[in-house]
Amino acid sequence: MTKLETSIRKIVVFGPQGSGKGTQAEFLSKELNIPWISTGNIYRQNIKAQTELGKLANQYIIEGKLVPDQVTNRLVAERLKEKDAQAGFILEGYPRNRGQAETLDQMTQISAVLEIAISDEEAIRRISGRRVCTCGMTFHIDFNPPKQEGICDQCGKKLFQREDDQEETIRQRLAIYHQNTEPLLKEYLKRGILIRVNGEQGISEVKKEIFQKMDENNFSKK
Ligand SMILES: [Zn+2]
Repeated sequence: MTKLETSIRKIVVFGPQGSGKGTQAEFLSKELNIPWISTGNIYRQNIKAQTELGKLANQYIIEGKLVPDQVTNRLVAERLKEKDAQAGFILEGYPRNRGQAETLDQMTQISAVLEIAISDEEAIRRISGRRVCTCGMTFHIDFNPPKQEGICDQCGKKLFQREDDQEETIRQRLAIYHQNTEPLLKEYLKRGILIRVNGEQGISEVKKEIFQKMDENNFSKK
């Protein structure tokens, strides 16, 4: 076992939309054999199991509103108490603001915070280039283009861009990230637990940099 596998357990992954943080969180979870916990997963599990909090969260999600912090905080607290999370976890999509970060500090002690950094322009390029088909196929105009422009390889239908993937929507989300989420990183930097990686590389290069930097930094004392 490497130092990383034995010492670092409670990891939070930060990054704007398009940074690939979900993909990296999943890699880490598999490599370290600890659960990948995202607010998206927690909502889905609780909605499926029809828990009281799940029903409550679902009302907001159906209306396209943000789930209030009190509900999200309670859902995360419940999830972190589960048996599989006792040896550690990869938390993604939480905390998103100062209130949530303070609540998380009351729940547990975080051992490392990963920031997957990409510029706004790169985030926009990655997301706004997505094209989807009603059959379920997805393409990207730069990274995975269809054989014929604007046409689905699989079924021949016309591809379209999801509203969520439009530049205007992405810019709004990025602004919220810069305003509410990014300032939290300064606090983690002060605590000496922040690891910043360049997210503008390929998926496997980002993964490599994460593992290198986590191994270089000795977090075992924290
Ligand atoms: Zn299709």
